[in-house]
Amino acid sequence: MASPKRKLVVFDFDWSMADQDTDRWVFEVLAPDLRRKMKTLKDEIQWTDLVAQSLREAHARSITKEQIIHTLEIMPYHPAMVRAVSSLKARGETTFLCLSNANSVFISTILKVQLIGFFPIPKSDMVIIQSKGLQDLFEEIVTNPAEWDPSGLLKLRRRVDPSGPQHNCSVGCSPNMCKGEELEAFLARKGVEYDRIFYVGDGTNDFCPILRLRSQDTVFCRSNRGLQKRIHKEGEEKGLKCKVEYWGGAWEIEEKFSQL
Ligand SMILES: [Mg+2]
Ligand SMILES: [Zn+2]
Repeated sequence: MASPKRKLVVFDFDWSMADQDTDRWVFEVLAPDLRRKMKTLKDEIQWTDLVAQSLREAHARSITKEQIIHTLEIMPYHPAMVRAVSSLKARGETTFLCLSNANSVFISTILKVQLIGFFPIPKSDMVIIQSKGLQDLFEEIVTNPAEWDPSGLLKLRRRVDPSGPQHNCSVGCSPNMCKGEELEAFLARKGVEYDRIFYVGDGTNDFCPILRLRSQDTVFCRSNRGLQKRIHKEGEEKGLKCKVEYWGGAWEIEEKFSQL
């Protein structure tokens, strides 16, 4: 009997699995002046450090854990993406990996819940929240570690500790994590030879991991964002081997996944 075909689906999170950028969204909703400050400082301070600093500033002005969780619960997330990944997972033979520069708390909070109704009632907005059922989707979520301290501060650290050995990426990944090295480390940890790997991504930092893909693999690249620009500019010169398919909305990922 032929062995089952093993597939690996790798997801970036912000603007790939979710229809927003978690780090930016939280501050756009709760503290737009901090969001502005992040935009001003982003070339001076490493992004994960900048988000950690902004979380401390939000905490100092009494923005609560509950407010942050609620903000994540109402973040745009396309129902077609829930359908796409749930039905592919249900068919079996597919392993899911998340590689994200967001953080463990933001991602796990979002995967757990889905807003299904919002009723603006004066003084006490009512929200009905339902589970997406995606909390067990991923085999691993490789991202920056975060945890709530007892005072309600979300403490966030880089995945690669700045005081320890640094990653060796030469493709331009941010110091907090090299997604290419993380993908290779995951494959080595699992010790599984996947017949095909599919990568869903949108950003400039998704270029490094897709350089590690083979000719039988495919990147599902979200159109008109940083990854597409890097593929066009550097793909050939850097020896990109995988197939490239473009998508705009989650309904197209649902379509593509149904044909895998
Ligand atoms: Mg992204
Ligand atoms: Zn890298």
